[in-house]
Order: sequence, then C-alpha cells, then structure tokens
Amino acid sequence: MSIHKNVSGRTRVVGVIGWPVEHSLSPPMHNGEFERLGLDYLYAPFAVAPENLEQAVRGLVALGAAGFNITIPHKQKIMPLLDEVSPEAVVVGAVNTVRIENGRTTGSNTDVPGWSEDIQQDILLQGSSVCVLGAGGAGRAICVAAALAGAKSVFIQNRTIESAEALASVLREQFADVCFSFGCDDETACRDQFGRCDIVVNTTPVGMAAIPGSPVPADWLNESQYVYDTIYTPAETELLRAAKVKGCPTRNGLGMLARQGALAFELWSGAKPDLTRMESTLRKALNA
Ligand code: NAP
Repeated sequence: MSIHKNVSGRTRVVGVIGWPVEHSLSPPMHNGEFERLGLDYLYAPFAVAPENLEQAVRGLVALGAAGFNITIPHKQKIMPLLDEVSPEAVVVGAVNTVRIENGRTTGSNTDVPGWSEDIQQDILLQGSSVCVLGAGGAGRAICVAAALAGAKSVFIQNRTIESAEALASVLREQFADVCFSFGCDDETACRDQFGRCDIVVNTTPVGMAAIPGSPVPADWLNESQYVYDTIYTPAETELLRAAKVKGCPTRNGLGMLARQGALAFELWSGAKPDLTRMESTLRKALNA
C-alpha cells in the first residue's frame, strides 16, 4: 500500500487494540481516508493479549499516539485504565474509542451516535417504540442511543432473560422518561409486545455465516415495522430478507461501522472524513 511510503518523523499514530485484530476492517478504512485527505496519520492494528492491556495503553500514551480504537475483548476492561470516560460510554459500560491529548486518555463510545445517525437517515427515533434483539455490547449501545434520541419505549428481547432484565433496570435509572421492558418466557406476550414496536434492531450475531438463522421468527414481523440489522456480513441476513418480503424498509450495519469510524477519525484528527468513501472502502474490503 502506498501509505507506507509516506511515513515520516512527523506521522501521528492511531490504531486498534484487540485480540485478535487481523480481520479488522478499520486499518484500510482509516488509512485510505487519511491518505485521500492528505493527513499525516497512520492507523495500525495492535494485537494485545488481555493480560497486556494496561501495558499497551501506557505504551501508546508514552509513544505519543493520537488515540486508538478498542475492540473485543477489551471494550469493558479498558474503562478503569482511562483518565476520563464520556457519560454515554459509562452508561453503555464499554469504550470503543480513546483520544490521547497531552498525555491524558479520554474514552467514548462512537457506536452510540454511529448507530443513531445511521438509522435516522431512514426513520426518526424520537417518539418511537424500539425492539432491541440482544443485550450484549452492541445491544447496550443501541438501547442508550435510542433513549438519548428520544425513543418512547425500548423492548429488550434476549436469549438470556436475566441479562435483558439487568440491562432494563440499569437503563430505567438513567432514562426516567423512557419505558424499558424485556422479553420473558411467555411467547404470546413477547410476540405481542414485539408486534407493537415500530423499529426492530438485531444486535445478536444470529444471521452471520457461522450462526445462520433469524433472531426472531419471520412471521412475527409486520409490514409497518422498520428493520435494522447491525450485522454487515452477509449484507442481507435472513432477518432482512424476511423483512423485505413483508415489505418493511431495512438497513444493515455497514453504515454504523463507517459512522463509528468516522466519528473516531474526527476525534483524533479534527478533520471530517468523507463517509461515502469510507463506506465504499469497507464494501471493497468485504467484497460486498
Ligand atoms: P456480545 O456482547 O457478545 O453480545 C451478543 C448478544 O447476542 C448477547 O445478547 C447474546 O445473548 C446474543 N446471542 C449470541 N449468540 C446468540 C444465539 N446463538 N442466539 C441468540 N442470541 C445470541 O456481542 P456484541 O459486541 O454485542 O456484537 C453482537 C453483534 O453485533 C456482532 O455479531 C456484530 O455483527 C454486531 N455489531 C455490529 C457493529 C456495527 O458497527 N455494525 C458494531 C458492533 C457489533 P446472551 O446474553 O444470551 O449471551
């Protein structure tokens, strides 16, 4: 890649800390955009084992990096290692972006605005009833994003009911104006509540090649619902296919991925990247 030719003594370093990181799409997405905007930055992958996380964070600060992304499995464990964490990231319980300025680290969660900006190209969250399928990292970020954007209610449906219940109870304390509920063992009651949601968001990995299927039965969907799947590979999951057959508007998670990256890019460099180009780099990397 031509980017390597341009590295100099002035080059600012950013990157991603994960374990593993070799499949990350962030290096081509960020490096391509740094190069196109003529910004002297380099985005590198850092494979950091869990026991080395603290040393890696200290190392990046000492080396003068401008910031970094954090991915699985470090998104939660990094929080106590940072000088400051944004209020949204505290509620989500996960950080995916760190900015380093004058030796101080500030963590934020760009999945939150990344998702709400992406979905709101199609449908307003204000006043909506949202069903979030899944209660893991992405599910938590999307519940917080929906609440911050003024959703009226959020119904959390998860394989492990206790996790959905725990999440709903944390969120109720933070967002008194939003009605949070969670799915239970009673299928009829669940289906009924699901059917009353305007927006359905899959945040489980069900629908990826390794876990085929749909996170909810296709006949639960109705034509008045909008369906978003955070999965971006495959580009069309079984859930999105079933939703299209019903006539529901749909979107996959590629835009969320690009937007969370674009927000991190801007935090580090102060420059606004071209979102369309970032999405197109991702599509090329995915062959989608
Ligand atoms: P996570 O923290 O591990 O959470 C996974 C969630 O999915 C949990 O609620 C889990 O339920 C549920 N789940 C896992 N396997 C399941 C199965 N076989 N059947 C039913 N439910 C299942 O993972 P995450 O970080 O939230 O990521 C989840 C997915 O979100 C990823 O696969 C990725 O595609 C997508 N994502 C996309 C973006 C984007 O930018 N587009 C960003 C982040 C994540 P339990 O509580 O029962 O374990």
